[in-house]
Amino acid sequence: MNPIIAANWKMNLTIDQGLVLIDEILDSSPPDNFDIIFFPSSISLNSVSIKLKDSGYSVGVQNIHHENSGAFTGEVSAKMVKDLDVKYAIIGHSERRQYFLETDSQVNAKINNTIIAGLCPVVCIGETLEQREAGETSDILKKQLMSACNNIDRKLDKFIVAYEPVWAIGTGKSASLEQVQDTHKFIDSILKTLFDGNIPILYGGSVNAENASEMYDIKNVDGFLIGGASLESNSFCQIIKNITKNTKRSL
Ligand code: PEP
Repeated sequence: MNPIIAANWKMNLTIDQGLVLIDEILDSSPPDNFDIIFFPSSISLNSVSIKLKDSGYSVGVQNIHHENSGAFTGEVSAKMVKDLDVKYAIIGHSERRQYFLETDSQVNAKINNTIIAGLCPVVCIGETLEQREAGETSDILKKQLMSACNNIDRKLDKFIVAYEPVWAIGTGKSASLEQVQDTHKFIDSILKTLFDGNIPILYGGSVNAENASEMYDIKNVDGFLIGGASLESNSFCQIIKNITKNTKRSL
């Protein structure tokens, strides 16, 4: 499986700034045995998609509504973005759960709609610091995952999970190697009960050029979902370079 490197730009970068960033990244010729996915804001999807045509890199949407159309002011659907050659959708990011009060059942409805539209969901799960300190991490992740995958075909192969501890997102404090190792192993064991095939698991939470290579060494870490460090070409390309140098081994 190629390493999956997903760049979540969140609500950053104008259309022009995003295109400049992509030019800089393409100029550095990242290796082609990577699956690199850019998640710009919805208004940049069309321009980024045109820019990435025939580049080998993909574009994804940061969020979708769970219906295809209707009276939902301000929302976009998976069916709509599909027309822009969008191949992926981030679903259930902790910022959506926290600030927009997205529930597990809404996450499940969005995943279903994403799959029906033919997009690959990148499903985010993660515990808060309080939950980790209370020893609830496994229960929370299992609940989020089971609910997210409710009624999903176990033969599905276009499905990605991102483990993103809420306390590590945008804080500069990533999870430790041991925490990532244990948690990814646990998530993989749950996924094996839900799907017939191998579902990739990304880690997200303050990934940078310093920690990416060691993290990628860990079994069941198939790539990264990157926020802050994806907004600047040097840091983003350096992460890819450092993973390229790394020979993946099983811990
Ligand atoms: C994210 O946005 O999903 C994320 C992991 O952000 P950061 O890399 O900035 O922690």
